[in-house]
Amino acid sequence: MQIAKDKETLQTLLNKWSGKSIGLVPTMGALHEGHLSLIEKAKSENDFVVVSIFVNPKQFNDPKDLENYPSDLEGDLKKIQDLTDCVFCPDIENVYPNDFKELRFEIDHLEGVMEGKHRQGHFQGVCNIVYILLDLVKPTRAYFGIKDYQQLAIIRHMSKVHFPKIEIVPCEIIREENGLAKSSRNLNLSKDDFEKAAIIYQNLIAARDLIRSNKSIDQVKEIVRNNFQKEKIELEYFEITHPDTLQPINSRIPRSRGFIAAYVGNVRLIDNLELIE
Ligand code: AMP
Repeated sequence: MQIAKDKETLQTLLNKWSGKSIGLVPTMGALHEGHLSLIEKAKSENDFVVVSIFVNPKQFNDPKDLENYPSDLEGDLKKIQDLTDCVFCPDIENVYPNDFKELRFEIDHLEGVMEGKHRQGHFQGVCNIVYILLDLVKPTRAYFGIKDYQQLAIIRHMSKVHFPKIEIVPCEIIREENGLAKSSRNLNLSKDDFEKAAIIYQNLIAARDLIRSNKSIDQVKEIVRNNFQKEKIELEYFEITHPDTLQPINSRIPRSRGFIAAYVGNVRLIDNLELIE
């Protein structure tokens, strides 16, 4: 495994791989089995794999959230040393030099709901770093988790416009034994809160069952909101949306999904599930 700490070193390495297929897995580190599943998939489908580890300050709307974001580069490198060909772990100045001009992306139609609504500027920040990485690595395929479904939809759109040749590969959500979606942020949960956080996935499953038993969308929303209230867990949003437009729905549209963002302790967690077949 080669370690590139700046764009220039990465470029030299990429030049040696010209003509080969390359899989790119962008991450913010504190790697867990969710990340590893993306890397394994990338390895099985490409000649070479580049994993980027970079906590992107531009996608944090809350400075405290950025400060508390877990990081363990040494541990991460050990976890993936046999899985990837290259790790790109630049510092902030290398990615965003002083003369860096932030790009604006046309993502308004996908950004106005859920994560984009509650985390102003988040997806512009995500698009900036993903654009930089796709432009630099020019991968054959880039891998993103369905765990961050809205992010995946926005990156798909952005890459279709700017990098039409790159295939964006969606990857299944990997979960803890209690159903909680694996996340770097889970490291900030106390043992007690880790168990309590299972409420998120439990309610997505409950919502799916309620819809199958013919409850209306509004009824399902109310039941889920009440469940969180009863457990005194702060539900930031529960939305049921169209799978492609991400707009809230009132009728049963196939592949529609449920999305939850909730605070357990003071850790913000998100998850989603297909509710309608
Ligand atoms: P992050 O480091 O949180 O930015 O995540 C890097 C990539 O891993 C993103 O594409 C995420 O959607 C994906 N990812 C994060 N958690 C999971 C999970 N539990 N299962 C599958 N993919 C995940």
